[in-house]
Amino acid sequence: MELLVEGGTVLTMGQKGTIRDGALAIEDDRIVAVGRAREIKPKFRRYERLDARGCIIMPGLVNAHQHISMGLLRGYADDYPLKEWLEQHIWPLEAKMEPYHMYVGSLLTCAESLLSGVTTVNTMYHYAHPELNEAKAIADIGMRGVVGHVCFSWRKEEDRRALDDLVRRWHGTADGRVRVSVDPHAPYTVDPDYMVELRRLTNEYNERYGHEGAITFHIHVAETPDEPDKIREAFGVSADEGVVAYLDRLGVLGPDMVAAHCVALTGKDIAIMARRGVKAVHNPVSNMKLASGVSPVVELLRAGVVVALGTDGPCSNNTADMFETMKFASLLQKVVLNDPTALPARTVLEMATVRGALALSWPEIGAIEPGKKADLIVIDVRKPHLTPLYSEESHLVYAVRSSDVRTVLVDGEIVVEDRELKTMDLADIMEEATKAKEDLLSRLEEGKT
Ligand SMILES: [Zn+2]
Repeated sequence: MELLVEGGTVLTMGQKGTIRDGALAIEDDRIVAVGRAREIKPKFRRYERLDARGCIIMPGLVNAHQHISMGLLRGYADDYPLKEWLEQHIWPLEAKMEPYHMYVGSLLTCAESLLSGVTTVNTMYHYAHPELNEAKAIADIGMRGVVGHVCFSWRKEEDRRALDDLVRRWHGTADGRVRVSVDPHAPYTVDPDYMVELRRLTNEYNERYGHEGAITFHIHVAETPDEPDKIREAFGVSADEGVVAYLDRLGVLGPDMVAAHCVALTGKDIAIMARRGVKAVHNPVSNMKLASGVSPVVELLRAGVVVALGTDGPCSNNTADMFETMKFASLLQKVVLNDPTALPARTVLEMATVRGALALSWPEIGAIEPGKKADLIVIDVRKPHLTPLYSEESHLVYAVRSSDVRTVLVDGEIVVEDRELKTMDLADIMEEATKAKEDLLSRLEEGKT
């Protein structure tokens, strides 16, 4: 497709900064030109037009930590202590999930994500079927994503089979929109030897399949302050100097590591992350809802660590809304540090776009620049809560709602137009999800009798 997007303010998140009365041209899946409308328009006269007058055009948002299948379980159980929430509510229901439920839950979360301006998602879940899985949902709905299989010490054989199948079948598919990752669940559920083996496996996959894009190493790290205790209890090893320091001793760190949460870090952990190029993903809403604590985001950034943003799964957030996450990220640091200058709007926007792309080792996304993938969103700012407009960056973080996203492009394709999902029937997805919920609940009842 040849498309000229014109008439709005382009927030490139790249070298050209913010361009008022800007325009950009797209050929197939790539951006080929961006600049002032009067310079760009004459060169691409014959291209189909997308009118973005009164709107902000920016890169699609990158949600760097999710569990998209869990869309089906949203709101099933809330307001419990973490252990009780998992053991008595979430895990028993999850145990009843079949591949079909995972596929439907994933479609639901992807639809919600696209409609709210998220074009790329990094998701960790169980890969249990060659077709009915998260990768298929992302491919079918026209999104971009990194799909992992979550690994635990108690099912090593099963994990190896799942990882092999996932990487062989899905890495680089859907015109390169789908990539895969190796996902050790956490340092307290994956024993030291298995952690080392999974790192080695990631390196092997990169040697064999890396020409289709990086295969990343995605893991929950230091989500709660008691993680060193849990590691000692599980495997009899010390992580008292810090969970990242412990992982460094195992030799598993590297720039392809995506560390979700990073709440309870030591000073040593932060220095090691910077030295090894480990990427952090901050999930402020989930951390607040589960009372996990507050990630030292400002310290991480100061040390030079790439910090991206994520929502975490729909059960612990409970939305896939990255605009809400951006606002919370900023407000949380401000109140905790007692400093209104902490985590300004510009930094938060970078975390949700360019730094998200860096975190996923996917440099072709995250900014509007010639040569990058055409993943972008058009936000309508002709609204009472966005009028008048002094600063696009301020509005985007503190005032825009995800429902202000009007049009969404992924890989040069219009996937949402005037707030309507174009790639699949949204009403069908919601109907299937409601049926799947009833089915899950009846399976749970059957299990009890
Ligand atoms: Zn998570």
